[in-house]
Amino acid sequence: MRFCFQEKDFTEHSITPDRLALIDHDRTLTWHQFKAEVNSICSFFIENNWDTLAKPVILYGHKQAEMITTIYALMKLKIAYIPVDVIFPEQRILAIQNVVGVEMVINCTNQPLNLENTTELQIKGHEFQLFRERKLTFSQTPVASDPLIYIIFTSGSTGEPKGVQITTEAIQTFTEWMKNDFGFTADDVFINIALFSFDLSVYEVMSFGAIGSTLLLNDKATTENPDALLERVEKYKGSIWVSTPSFSLTYSRIGAVPQLNSIQYFLFCGETLPHSLAAKLFDSFKDAVIYNTYGPTEATVATTMVAVTQEILDLYNPLPVGYPKPESQILIENEEIVIVGDNVSIGYLNRPELNADKFILIDGKRAYKTGDCGYLQDGMLFFSARTDNQIKLHGYRIELDEITSKINDIDFVLQAETIALRRNGEVKKIVSLVQLAPNIESQLDVKESIIQSLTKSLPPYMIPSDFKFIERMPLNQNGKADKKELERVYLERT
Ligand code: AMP
Repeated sequence: MRFCFQEKDFTEHSITPDRLALIDHDRTLTWHQFKAEVNSICSFFIENNWDTLAKPVILYGHKQAEMITTIYALMKLKIAYIPVDVIFPEQRILAIQNVVGVEMVINCTNQPLNLENTTELQIKGHEFQLFRERKLTFSQTPVASDPLIYIIFTSGSTGEPKGVQITTEAIQTFTEWMKNDFGFTADDVFINIALFSFDLSVYEVMSFGAIGSTLLLNDKATTENPDALLERVEKYKGSIWVSTPSFSLTYSRIGAVPQLNSIQYFLFCGETLPHSLAAKLFDSFKDAVIYNTYGPTEATVATTMVAVTQEILDLYNPLPVGYPKPESQILIENEEIVIVGDNVSIGYLNRPELNADKFILIDGKRAYKTGDCGYLQDGMLFFSARTDNQIKLHGYRIELDEITSKINDIDFVLQAETIALRRNGEVKKIVSLVQLAPNIESQLDVKESIIQSLTKSLPPYMIPSDFKFIERMPLNQNGKADKKELERVYLERT
């Protein structure tokens, strides 16, 4: 049994129903049980006449098996979902609700979210409980020819997250690529690390269904505790490791750890894969394949891929990010990487101006201007740098201007700027320099108030690790905050 994205239904294949489909921290589900749970969610929606919901639903939780069964049920029902992890503060969820007009929350936790004007349904296995019920709108028009599968929100430079809309076709081409070109089989066990709110998790969430393999979910407590994660990987014979390079670097013992002997593939995406990490893995895991892949959320997880071989290690430092996937194209326009193909999003939800700037048509095909600089060599793409204030910290995508905008919203702040401090080109921390309104003393409690205020609207990984108060914002010739000078001031005072 596996999920057939073309027909949007389960089809019987060679995979035995007793094989494991899904493992979370409480339960393991065979493919037979997985299919039954997906179908009971579909039936519940149909019985309630909810199968023509007009608005995408928020899928709220943290690594519960139900989040996966619900995703597959919603795909069958052709209802789009927005994955929201419990780490996100209420104000951010409200911002998402406002952009989308969400009317329904599917909650996989035990704690109601209580978003105003929403129907909230709790799903636990085959059990359904309505936490609250509000009026829902239903679509009167037939389902679009290429319906949305999900909207993933990423950091937005204007201060509000932006919703990347991904359609069925994009997921189909992505899963076809996974099935055909990576060598994964139904015997594989995908090790999930990323939160479902991030598109890195789409690698395993969609691929295990298309291939009919097993998905091993790991909660935050586990991924933050190397011993616990390694124990789980060993116990369930995880074979496909999917993470950002930063994440595996935190596993400093990742070298020759015997618990990781079952791993056959290391799949990296989201940041520069350091040559030294790839070389170390290559030496320690002789039988494993190391993939470096590249792509933004706006082009469905990844667009390029390369297996890092001895030859690649010998020839290239920095490493290439790979060859474009079939039917997608990489162009370099004024040094900027432009992605062309069906895997490109149809745009950010309700952001026409930004869309006009970032999403274009090239020869009638959707294209996305990534804001990444790069070059092509030997048929492969190489990533060099960003053109803007977007950074990666510990694998998380962050617009520094979003943080600055939230600090500027605080009434006792006159103006602020957020900068990234790098070592060897890699962001090590983010700090904010803040000019307070007149008569506000830069005392400790002011810093505390800023942190408290930010905690209400930003996820924890976006909170700057330090703040310094300045008397005057240094400006460059264009009248913008002078980041070089700010970095100098920060380092001088630290
Ligand atoms: P996200 O949308 O979170 O996947 O972040 C996308 C951004 O991460 C890209 O636009 C790049 O800046 C960066 N990125 C993704 N993959 C790689 C890679 N293999 N090497 C370097 N940077 C990458």
